[in-house]
Amino acid sequence: MSLFHPVNLVCPQCEAPVTMMAVGSVNADRRPDLRDDILEDRFQDVTCEACGESFRLQPQFNYLDTGRGQWIAAMPASRLRDHLEIEDEAAALFDTSYGANAPAAARDVGSGLAVRLTFGWPAVREKLLVKQLGLEDVIVEMMKLHILRSVESVPMAEGIELRLVNTDEDSDGYVFAWLETASEKYIEYMTVPAELYKAIEGNPEGWNAIRKRLDTGHFVDMQKLYMGEGRPAE
Ligand SMILES: [Zn+2]
Repeated sequence: MSLFHPVNLVCPQCEAPVTMMAVGSVNADRRPDLRDDILEDRFQDVTCEACGESFRLQPQFNYLDTGRGQWIAAMPASRLRDHLEIEDEAAALFDTSYGANAPAAARDVGSGLAVRLTFGWPAVREKLLVKQLGLEDVIVEMMKLHILRSVESVPMAEGIELRLVNTDEDSDGYVFAWLETASEKYIEYMTVPAELYKAIEGNPEGWNAIRKRLDTGHFVDMQKLYMGEGRPAE
């Protein structure tokens, strides 16, 4: 079931009150249209009836797609700095829903799910796209690290992120974009040859140390390598 609840917002343009139905959980098996909306960057868009301004509610929902094997805790961009704490909360929620603390039938479903945590719309959209393209998200994060090391100047800063946003059919490559997380405003695009993905995939030993840092927990995102001490080694 996909669950919605009413929320009261204030229009950022004219400050009129706006009520919308906010989603608490998305079941993409039953509502494939909601998955399409995320991929099309229009999910949870709302238009102010007073002034016509449209804006978007930040994500805060659980996403389930058993067909594609995805469970995602999609959180607002503003919570990124609390990723360790939220990762623990997401893990606990998954455990009671589909993991170790769930009924047997739910655990069966859960065994086929990859659990992820994302912050902001571009990140959750990217996880859906990566799965759709048949890619492994850890390797996509490694591609980003390679890009950071390879290009001369990067607009990397807090609130700005690098996301896989599309494929480039002409060049058989992947389109990455620098964008502002909260506003989803694009700053710069670049096309990266598909060979880069294959090269990383084909060199697991060379990338093993980085994989281990990315693959701890459910927040699989190279941003965590740039924020604080991270999770202490066990
Ligand atoms: Zn308005």
